[in-house]
Amino acid sequence: MTRSITILGATGSIGTSTLDLIEREPDKFQIDTLTAHRDVQGLASAALRTRASLAVIGDESLYDALKSALSGSGIEIAAGATALVEAASRPVDWTMAAIVGAAGLPPVMAAVQRGGTLALANKEALVCAGELVQAAVKAHDATLLPVDSEHNAIFQCFDVVQAHRISRIILTASGGPFRGRDRAAMAAVTPAEAVRHPNWSMGAKISVDSATLMNKGLELIEAQHIFGLEPDKFEVIIHPQSVIHSMVEYVDGSVLAQMGSPDMRIPIGFCLGWPERMTTPAERLDLARIAQLDFHAPDLASFPALALAMQAMKEGGARPAILNAANEVAVAAFLEHRIGFLAIAEIVADVLARYAPPRPDTLEDVFAVDAETRRIAAERVEAIPA
Ligand code: NAD
Ligand code: MG
Repeated sequence: MTRSITILGATGSIGTSTLDLIEREPDKFQIDTLTAHRDVQGLASAALRTRASLAVIGDESLYDALKSALSGSGIEIAAGATALVEAASRPVDWTMAAIVGAAGLPPVMAAVQRGGTLALANKEALVCAGELVQAAVKAHDATLLPVDSEHNAIFQCFDVVQAHRISRIILTASGGPFRGRDRAAMAAVTPAEAVRHPNWSMGAKISVDSATLMNKGLELIEAQHIFGLEPDKFEVIIHPQSVIHSMVEYVDGSVLAQMGSPDMRIPIGFCLGWPERMTTPAERLDLARIAQLDFHAPDLASFPALALAMQAMKEGGARPAILNAANEVAVAAFLEHRIGFLAIAEIVADVLARYAPPRPDTLEDVFAVDAETRRIAAERVEAIPA
């Protein structure tokens, strides 16, 4: 039986890893829809290769370019934000949500409302609107499978029947490229240095988030929404080798961990095969070669973004959505060489201090908080001397 598949964000790091697994087993999967933001060539070539039914480009101005790239192929095309939501609403068996940022929230919500299985990589959607997404998952009887390696690890170690017997959930973090440096040493780091992750190959935004440790902060909030335990049960530990992907501790003192080589095709394959495990080409773990696993507590003074996220998680309400949107603006400004590395967390802290809207009750409220945060954050970016 073939399963129909939609990949939102098909040209990115997660999207191409997902396609890699799917193209190794063409009899099992049939691509329905692929989407991308601006990468017309990447989208068109993936759509042609996989004989997709529909290709959607997020940037409306690229409609004609996509049209000519796919002319004569019989592949349906569409463009724009509304088309992305419509694409996510098509009835398919399995959807990968791999758009980066809060821009992925409307299609995530549409895919959840359609029901079926959603593999979620787009952590920002949960950070901004976790309660609303989870309520929709329940209401529409959807299945949400976590792709993020830490959450996938926790999912594999999480005994649903004994969730009340879980005492701690410990997320591991590699520490990123600047692990062990103090703040002064990070003042002058460049975007190229920040995106050079020691263990994982990822998109630019999440790579910068891994360098500031904001990624781990977003993941704490993501984990809280996925696993539904109190905020104080979630912890972070630095583990530079990225062999243990996260751990679950039970009241008897047992700690279950999931391990594997740092290759996103393992968690993606777990979600793609679910409920059965599928073969992946990921390198097998060679513990004798790795020889040593290290652990230490995170340095919150050198990496204040993690502390800001922990605080936002505890406060709840609109705080995580503000944290996320301010971070997206600041990271984009850093990648464009408009602000320094340390200014990312400073801008997030500054915006959180200036803006305190009430708890968002609807998706529209979340979008309003997101938009206002971006406006304030853009002002703060401008206020920083170049
Ligand atoms: P990426 O930048 O490599 O790819 C992002 C994809 O989303 C691309 O296909 C791009 O065209 C599309 N996109 C970007 N902006 C868009 C917009 N405004 N509207 C519509 N589409 C848009 O990112 P990535 O590394 O693949 O990460 C994707 C998501 O998965 C992120 O939320 C990230 O945090 C999460 N994630 C990634 C990894 C990883 O190893 N790369 C691991 C865990 C979680
Ligand atoms: Mg992760």
